[in-house]
Amino acid sequence: MRPTMSIGLFCSASDGLPAAYETAARDFGRLCAVHGFRLVYGGSGRGLMGLAAHAALAGGGQVTGVMPRHLAGRERAETRLADLRMVDSLAERKQVMADLSDVFFVLPGGVGTLDEAFEMVTWYDIGLHRKATVFVDIDAFWTPVLGVFEHLDRQKMLRAHVRGGYDRIATVDEMPAAAMRHRGTAAAEAVA
Ligand code: AMP
Repeated sequence: MRPTMSIGLFCSASDGLPAAYETAARDFGRLCAVHGFRLVYGGSGRGLMGLAAHAALAGGGQVTGVMPRHLAGRERAETRLADLRMVDSLAERKQVMADLSDVFFVLPGGVGTLDEAFEMVTWYDIGLHRKATVFVDIDAFWTPVLGVFEHLDRQKMLRAHVRGGYDRIATVDEMPAAAMRHRGTAAAEAVA
């Protein structure tokens, strides 16, 4: 089945995280498969990245991994993927994931996840793409980061249109509706 849209996912590559985050990652992958969304992610078999990919594959979904060659060992590149793209750098991974995705979601993660999420919002800001970045605020994980955006906004550091470049949902269950909503926005802005 041809996927209806492609969902970029940024999240932790660490194992042994709180159960709520691991459940969220599995639910995310499962929902991608159920809704016919292709999951585009960093290609790791570890951490929340691996859990989401495994759940999508188990549900019969399509998964594309994008893995920097030099990290393939450390991040345990997921060998079960039919579509694993090897790239030369973290920067190229972000570019390829951005090109392939219609919208980005951010599950709990560390500095790598933060870098990826912020870069997608900054690319939206300068008009390199019109794709929203949606923070999945499981157990208020991203609330401090979303507070930084609010702070920037209050201090007039955020150009008005950037507000359309990021969003928050509270649970993974809201992912399909948010994906459809933001795909509509990106398509409308692309033709405007
Ligand atoms: P983390 O959120 O730190 O667990 O990392 C999640 C993913 O982000 C991993 O696949 C890392 O390889 C990746 N990552 C780490 N640092 C960066 C960076 N500076 N730019 C892009 N991705 C990164």
